[in-house]
Amino acid sequence: MTLRLSAQQIAEAARLLQAGQLVAFGTETVYGLGADATNSRAVAAIYQAKGRPSFNPLICHYATAEAAFADVRASGMARALATHFWPGPLTLVLPRAVDCPVSELAAAGLATLAVRVPAPAAARSLIAAVGRPLAAPSANPSGKISPTTAQHVIDGLGGKIAAVLDTGPCLVGLESTVLDLSGAAPCLLRPGGVPVEAIEALIGPVGRAHDHGAPKSPGQLLSHYAPNLPLRLDAVAIAPHEALLAFGPAPTGARLVFNLSEAGDLAEAASRLFEGLRWLDREAARGGFTGLAAMPIPGHGLGAAIRDRLARAAHDGKF
Ligand code: AMP
Ligand code: MG
Repeated sequence: MTLRLSAQQIAEAARLLQAGQLVAFGTETVYGLGADATNSRAVAAIYQAKGRPSFNPLICHYATAEAAFADVRASGMARALATHFWPGPLTLVLPRAVDCPVSELAAAGLATLAVRVPAPAAARSLIAAVGRPLAAPSANPSGKISPTTAQHVIDGLGGKIAAVLDTGPCLVGLESTVLDLSGAAPCLLRPGGVPVEAIEALIGPVGRAHDHGAPKSPGQLLSHYAPNLPLRLDAVAIAPHEALLAFGPAPTGARLVFNLSEAGDLAEAASRLFEGLRWLDREAARGGFTGLAAMPIPGHGLGAAIRDRLARAAHDGKF
């Protein structure tokens, strides 16, 4: 028996999401842990609830292809794939549009964005009611099995999220196929609900991520944003030539400072990390500084992911 969700339940879930809360909802693949993708604090809360040790880029879910293609630069190939497979379990990685409103944290600081339109009408109604894209990784604690029922979500994340919209069991139960269209040739990053053969029937041969070298985990796949200036970690004192990425009260003597969180709040720091790195790198270069120094960040909770990201930045993205 299929129970239709009431408009009232969808409206209530949408209100929570608009207010920056986390709401899990069913898609055809697995239950997603949704947050307003344009709200950095809400996106930080996703990583916090999942206990992810690093900032994996998240898939942004849209109600329509038209809405998705407003936030990315879509090629003819992307549009053909969307016409054929959306709504459905195919995620397309495309360059961000110049005025893309999606939080940098949702894309883990990348210049690309992963977008898709989920199949279930309830999921699309929810996204349309929010009026913004929803960032939604699988709604399970990091390292645990992806949930395909509302009860699975509650078992794993109950108490950490505002609500679960019970849209019934997921029909595909397998994650979406992730196809990177941002390079010279299309490349399969993750096999999933849409078979690669079906994609190839439409657009011709598709490369595999491991064709370009050693098999890559998502974290390594991505050329994470790295600052141009060298970055020194766990700095307790600041040199005159350095610009400071602060956390908590900044030491005196720093001439150019971006404070991730004066209050020492890790969720606030996570939400400001990528814009902070980018801003500091640019302003430091303009001001004649020759290095960046980051104050120590505690290693618990979201601090682990922030430290991981800073370590990658300090190693020029070749971590
Ligand atoms: P999940 O968290 O299970 O929804 O998985 C999301 C998948 O999409 C991961 O494999 C990510 O690495 C991948 N992904 C998301 N955004 C991007 C992006 N901009 N570039 C490459 N892969 C991405
Ligand atoms: Mg997952």
